Amino acid sequence: MHVDKNDDRSSVSATISGDRLFDRCPLGCRDDLQTSAITLTEGPLLRCTMCGQLLSSCTRGQYELALKKWDTSNGTIPEVQSAARFQQVTERRLRCALRLLGRLSPPPLRLLDVGCSSGALLAVASRLGFSPSGVEIASKAAETAQRAGFEVFCGLLHEARFADESFDVVTAFELIEHLNAPLSLLSECHRILKSEGVFIVNTPNAASWTVGVMRECWDGFNLSSMGGHVSFFSPQSLANLAGQCGFRVERLETRRVRFAESHQVSPVVYRVLKVMGEVLSIPASLLNKGHDMLAFLRKM
Ligand SMILES: [Zn+2]
Repeated sequence: MHVDKNDDRSSVSATISGDRLFDRCPLGCRDDLQTSAITLTEGPLLRCTMCGQLLSSCTRGQYELALKKWDTSNGTIPEVQSAARFQQVTERRLRCALRLLGRLSPPPLRLLDVGCSSGALLAVASRLGFSPSGVEIASKAAETAQRAGFEVFCGLLHEARFADESFDVVTAFELIEHLNAPLSLLSECHRILKSEGVFIVNTPNAASWTVGVMRECWDGFNLSSMGGHVSFFSPQSLANLAGQCGFRVERLETRRVRFAESHQVSPVVYRVLKVMGEVLSIPASLLNKGHDMLAFLRKM
């Protein structure tokens, strides 16, 4: 995964506040943060009174410790049993980007995966005919992708110094919820995309039915087990972030509803709740209340 730590404002704020990661909304809102009714191990989640973004009240030290979880040589290579599912889901997303791009650029289209880990998405993109490359800060995972033959820059996105308008598609999956400075990352993605290029991003939906029911019991809020989830978007706050960075939301979809994690209830209760979640998944998708959110943003 890729994390942009190059944010002077956050550093200054953290010093003033006794090292808390967020003192202000990282989406640039001016209003204060208030405590929400959801309390985690690190303290209550903070809510931006302007855009509704939910933010961890963890310290910078807790955040950096949680991020270290990702630097393994396996990175995010899917387990054997979920590899077919990963390929299917990734193909669907990339084919959707191809449809949105139409005939804007001659093939092969250039794709950059930000936070490419060990290169699982790059492999799928390559099979679909893209010319893929990646950026990854975790050195062991980046080396695995490089050994597989992919062009991967090991470091932060802005350090790679890509030329303006280098890519047709930029992807950032399961990334922005880890960032303390998402504005700088999205602005850089905007700069390196070609005009009308597509940025695909996914992140948990904090305005989902899952969060409404499970609240602090939802694993998505767990800082350490999720490797540094600190910033929780809704469809509205994601559109707000996109607009500030020069993107328009071309397509936004949410999927899946869950009422308990498998480790929290008995197997029988879990199966019943799982069926209920499956029944509600279609209305949740129609109303943007699923907990997996995927957005296709177009460079304006
Ligand atoms: Zn805000």
